[in-house]
Amino acid sequence: MSDEVGTDPQFRSDVTVELVRSAAADSDVIWAARVSTAGEQSLEEVRKDPAKSKGLINFLMRDRHGTPFEHNSMTFFISAPIFVFREFQRHRSGWSYNEESGRYRELQPVFYVPGEERKLVQQGRPGKYEFVDGTEKQHAVVTEQMAASYQASYRAYQEMLQAGVAREVARAVLPVGLFSSMYATCNARSLMHFLSLRTKDERATVPSFPQREIEMVAEQMEAEWAALMPLTHAAFNEHGRVAP
Ligand SMILES: Cc1cc2nc3c(=O)[nH]c(=O)nc-3n(C[C@H](O)[C@H](O)[C@H](O)COP(=O)(O)OP(=O)(O)OC[C@H]3O[C@@H](n4cnc5c(N)ncnc54)[C@H](O)[C@@H]3O)c2cc1C
Repeated sequence: MSDEVGTDPQFRSDVTVELVRSAAADSDVIWAARVSTAGEQSLEEVRKDPAKSKGLINFLMRDRHGTPFEHNSMTFFISAPIFVFREFQRHRSGWSYNEESGRYRELQPVFYVPGEERKLVQQGRPGKYEFVDGTEKQHAVVTEQMAASYQASYRAYQEMLQAGVAREVARAVLPVGLFSSMYATCNARSLMHFLSLRTKDERATVPSFPQREIEMVAEQMEAEWAALMPLTHAAFNEHGRVAP
């Protein structure tokens, strides 16, 4: 988030995902896997036969030989509500995070409100929930109440700061709908595990039911990754979206 936001609240229904740095290609998988049989020659082996490379990636995915998918790196800049980050940062293996600080800087008033397409009503029992569209009235109450609550809590935050209270104390009144930002670095294997849990996809052999807002982040990350490693991405889909 930029420092120019000021004290007027801004409301967002989307999330930001930018791939800021990457060293990730299908050939990294082949290179790492072929060291088993080609030793030091594995780099030359990579360029020999692209069709064989596809076959090898499929074999590794199918038989869950996971480590060749770790020799790559992607760093994403992500701006999303704090409740998304609480879910996101549960992913421990193969992930590195750095998030903006509420101790060292004044937090900016950017808040999440669900967009019109966000399904608002939960039906069914735990483990069997489905979400359905909200009515116009439900959308109106969500938008009004969230805006009122966000405005009140941000005013309280500002009043405390103006009274000389430390940022780390005053931030206690801010809600989980506040946007935060972070860099998250992962590799293809850890990303696949994340995607298997944080996206809903009919090709998944083990379905997951993520909250829509983290899924919005996951979908954008998947699109960036698919462009970098198309063969690996295709093999992930073909083999039921299970991380190897
Ligand atoms: C739909 C959904 C609902 C959820 N609901 C809740 C909830 O109500 N409450 C809640 O607290 N969490 C909840 N979670 C979070 C969930 O429990 C996991 O913390 C999160 O999905 C990260 O998964 P992970 O541990 O597999 O990932 P990572 O931490 O990235 O770990 C990846 C893999 O490494 C291995 N691993 C990592 N650490 C260890 C370890 N210490 N010991 C053994 N193996 C390890 C495991 O094989 C693990 O699958 C939910 C997640 C989803 C997707």
